[in-house]
Amino acid sequence: MSSVLPIARDLVRIASVNPMGRAIDGPSVGEERLTAWLEAFLLGIGARCRRQPVAPGRDNLVAELSWSGAGRAVVLEAHQDTVPVDGMTIPPFDAEVRGGRLYGRGACDVKGGMAAILAAMERLAAEKPRGAAAVVAAFTVDEESGFTGVRTLARQLPAGVAFAVVAEPTRLDVVVAHKGLVRWRVRTRGRSCHSARPSDGVNAVYRMAPVLATLEEYAGSLMQGPSHPLLGSPTLSVGVIRGGTSVNTVPGSCEIEIDRRLLPGEDPAFAVDHCRRFLMERLPGSGLEIEPAWISDLALDTPPDSEAARTCLAAVRKVRGSSDPVGVPYGTDASKLAEAGLPAVVLGPGDIAQAHTADEWIEVAELGQAEAVFVELVKLAG
Ligand SMILES: [Zn+2]
Repeated sequence: MSSVLPIARDLVRIASVNPMGRAIDGPSVGEERLTAWLEAFLLGIGARCRRQPVAPGRDNLVAELSWSGAGRAVVLEAHQDTVPVDGMTIPPFDAEVRGGRLYGRGACDVKGGMAAILAAMERLAAEKPRGAAAVVAAFTVDEESGFTGVRTLARQLPAGVAFAVVAEPTRLDVVVAHKGLVRWRVRTRGRSCHSARPSDGVNAVYRMAPVLATLEEYAGSLMQGPSHPLLGSPTLSVGVIRGGTSVNTVPGSCEIEIDRRLLPGEDPAFAVDHCRRFLMERLPGSGLEIEPAWISDLALDTPPDSEAARTCLAAVRKVRGSSDPVGVPYGTDASKLAEAGLPAVVLGPGDIAQAHTADEWIEVAELGQAEAVFVELVKLAG
């Protein structure tokens, strides 16, 4: 009898909300209690554990499980943090099971996948299959906000690892490619005055209007440009606009935030500059202020015929009968590991459509399949 469901319920009950840069605190915030639980579980099955401090009270946990006859290691990675629980319509940490689903914050993203890794390790520790790979399980902090946990992991990877599998909700598809991203701000300046005499000032919100229309045109042009066989076109979206202080004041400044999704091979700084030149050509003399990017992240592009992809595809086929490599538009820890030289794919139970939702859930049946997939891929990777 697999222990994957009880493990997943325990993980959901231990809240590990990422503050996401907000000044919130309390018993549900931070990964510390979950790290301690993971450490106790992994020591209990005979793994060697070590912590990688990332920030005060926030440690990655790296657990090595090996036995006589085990070969090269594979990394199985999952992040410890979840998004906040604001607006949830179910009890976030009760880990209720109803209608074949486990409900709660993190059930899908990504404590279900984490439970499948732990249950697979428990089985491997008991069976000690000869010729299988050793396992390095890595549980990182701060994936949902800053990727600081995986960047620390990438700098301290153990030697002799064949490849990494990053658990995220992929419905057990093998994700070999995902987009990267870059985000930056653009500002228009005007001159404030009383709205009863608008001609005394310059309205910065009006000045933003042609910028938005030009960016919409630019976003359309990206769709016509080069595309990736699994990822399609790059995209651009304006997600935030801020301008003005009150309805009776002509606004003196207006600011937007831009999200650009990158294809493999695209350089974040080049993407920002390309967009800047497009704006400057069409809006000369507009006095736009274009800030440098505040965050960027490279795309993932692991060849479908690489050892990492082939091994994972074979493991999923063994459990589910079929599997093809796929691409997804969202980012994961995998691109940071690949950038550090460790080939990586993304593979886990659950559907990204249920991640971060008001009634987050995961299919219980998929948890068991994920456990079987992880066991198989460790056996095949040896
Ligand atoms: Zn996730």
